[in-house]
Amino acid sequence: MKDRRAASEATRALIGWDGIRFTVPGDWNVTGVSADRAEGYLKVDSPGTMFVQLKWSDPSRAAPRTLMEVVARGARLVRRVPQPDKGTPDLRSMLDAYLKETEKRARKGGQTFNCKVKPESVEANGERTAHNFTWTGAGQGQGKIWYCGVCRRTVIAQVVGQVKDPVADIAACVFGEMRDHGEGGWNAWGAFDLVASVPADYALRAHKFMSGYLRLEFWCRPKGRIVLERWGLANLARRKFTLREWLGRMAEGDRHRPEYADAAMNGHPGVRARGQVRGVVARVAALRDALPALRPALEYEGCAWECEETNKLYAVQLWRPRGVPTPMADLVARCECH
Ligand SMILES: [Zn+2]
Ligand SMILES: [Zn+2]
Repeated sequence: MKDRRAASEATRALIGWDGIRFTVPGDWNVTGVSADRAEGYLKVDSPGTMFVQLKWSDPSRAAPRTLMEVVARGARLVRRVPQPDKGTPDLRSMLDAYLKETEKRARKGGQTFNCKVKPESVEANGERTAHNFTWTGAGQGQGKIWYCGVCRRTVIAQVVGQVKDPVADIAACVFGEMRDHGEGGWNAWGAFDLVASVPADYALRAHKFMSGYLRLEFWCRPKGRIVLERWGLANLARRKFTLREWLGRMAEGDRHRPEYADAAMNGHPGVRARGQVRGVVARVAALRDALPALRPALEYEGCAWECEETNKLYAVQLWRPRGVPTPMADLVARCECH
């Protein structure tokens, strides 16, 4: 037991997803995600029988469904009026509904279900209203439901395992460092061994997690697009390419006929590219993406470097409208490679 705890403390992995941030033992991995800003979901599995599961909702980020909602949203955006705050939701009844589902599963398996819910408490310097809960039934769980007054999210999170698992220890670590919104206007994104940060107003648009290749694509209407990529086994993958060719061909550099330059990145030799979106089709697509604004993201910048310490290749690329300041230097510096 002692050894296991020592080992898991020695290597912890950062999990970051749209402002939600916590750490898990180093051998746990993300196995389920949703990229929806209004209704998020994240599951991180241990190599054994334990896992962490989070669900969050933020009604202010829901896509408008009716014409009236579209009009109201548009008017708010134009006048820069924030969504009205409806205050702390009824956490207890949300939690009861959640635990009912867990109870149903336990009963199906012929198990007796017991749960304990602690009285409502205020945490995180007054930012959060929360209920802690534990249950036993089909295994055991320890978790928390809370509402954050800063980002107006409601999050329900729990660590689940079998009776033999050290669920309480893992829960103490997971919840001890749990964050539900970014800091200084940046959101941390961490999955597998990619740890990076992106300005909080960019939303995740697509993600790809393959063995040896990770990709996250972000989008912010007035600011443009950001793509983060990481390849494993750099020494084998890059054998036939220079870094410049890698950024040009494996990433999207060459399409923009950029000027390439050598530059140091995070202590490694790297290459930087600056170009423009070319061709009618690509320019029309950029304009369509920007609508209703008429400022398409046509300025291209790319950076690539190889981290010898970890044998990984990184590429950060962004497209922005002319006149929008570039976050590239910060994106590279916040992309942790070793
Ligand atoms: Zn928050
Ligand atoms: Zn490095």
